[in-house]
Amino acid sequence: MAARRCASLPWCCCLAWCSPPARRSSSPRPSCCSWANTGCAAGALVRTRTRAKERLGRLASPAFFFSSLMKHEQTMRSLDDLEQAGLIPPPSPEQRAAADAFGVLLPPALARLIDPSDPSDPIAAQVIPSAHERTVTPDEISDPIGDAAHSPLPGLVHRYPDRVLLKLTGLCAVNCRFCFRRDLLTQDVLRDADLEAALAYIGAHPEVWEVILSGGDPLILSDARLNRVVRRLEAIETVSVIRVHTRLPVANPERVTPALVGALKSPKAVYVMLHCNHPRELTPEARAACARLIDAGLPVLSQSVLLRGVNDRPEVLEALMRAFVATRITPHYLHHGDMARGTSHFRVPLETAQALLRGLRGRLSGLGQPTYILDLPEGHGKVPVGPVFATRDGAGWRVEDPQGEVHAYGNAGSRAIG
Ligand SMILES: *Cc1c(COP(=O)(O)O)cnc(C)c1O
Repeated sequence: MAARRCASLPWCCCLAWCSPPARRSSSPRPSCCSWANTGCAAGALVRTRTRAKERLGRLASPAFFFSSLMKHEQTMRSLDDLEQAGLIPPPSPEQRAAADAFGVLLPPALARLIDPSDPSDPIAAQVIPSAHERTVTPDEISDPIGDAAHSPLPGLVHRYPDRVLLKLTGLCAVNCRFCFRRDLLTQDVLRDADLEAALAYIGAHPEVWEVILSGGDPLILSDARLNRVVRRLEAIETVSVIRVHTRLPVANPERVTPALVGALKSPKAVYVMLHCNHPRELTPEARAACARLIDAGLPVLSQSVLLRGVNDRPEVLEALMRAFVATRITPHYLHHGDMARGTSHFRVPLETAQALLRGLRGRLSGLGQPTYILDLPEGHGKVPVGPVFATRDGAGWRVEDPQGEVHAYGNAGSRAIG
């Protein structure tokens, strides 16, 4: 029986999500879901994802995870996996240390995009541990955007009055090396009691107009679990908007099934924010996944991180934005790299970023212009820090046009009429 449950994964998972409080560490787990059971993909995933053994005690059954990841036996979870797949040469000790600090997690849809013969492959740069991660600069911290300072309850971050982040899981389908929460993901799946407390908090705070499902990646959860969360949020009268932050349509496009879309769809507005950094990530399969969401009435917007060696060349950034627009994805945010530990090799100087965006304005449709965002440390919030085209000049303005030519505007002052 136990073995059969692991063999029929969707059933196993839905069951776990639908049934009351999943097994805690204090109660015995069925052998199919034992952390030690190497046949259980979720167990293997969790083993790589959680460094400290004591964390396991805080988790419910790994059968939580659900469909997609568990089906993905080919997901790579170690440097050895990467080497065996021919994606990397034998790893250096420094690379091993980087992978020990933050595990490898690479699903097949992204692994396929890597050209192992290209030492500066932009997909590999995002997902393969690098010796550079061993360099931690003095301003880098574990909680770079100050989640902790604004977290009233486990899984909940309430930094802005009108919206909260609800972190349903610390797991993602892919471990991006520049992840700003790479040191923060201490709870792998939000426990039922914590979820209930978060929902009660949201209900008790009528100023919360929008709930952002984040993580980790909320879409790695089962359809049943997501359906339950969306139905519960939709029932809170004061919540008008539900937003989902995800990389799944790129990391695992086939996860975006009609059933998943059905779970997310709501009479209330549901927006999907896609994390995608390079045009090559928008494969036909990823585009089709986004189309399934958009066709069902869920607008998809982009979130990208400006990353050195990945998308910091004008032509790449432009191609990325054009790919979004041509896929009906609205370019939304382009993030300045957060001060996560060991990520300085990815960060692009602010003035370089501004120059890139300035150039984009001159060459690309208005539909393709993202807002460049800096999320200030210590939880002070997101600030647009893109190029500035207008500066004060006496009584008027000095305005730069998209070609870089400067014009005086409004310097004539005011005149009496008539
Ligand atoms: C990023 C973030 C949001 C969302 O901010 P937007 O500018 O609306 O995208 C909300 N809450 C927290 C805590 C965040 O970090």
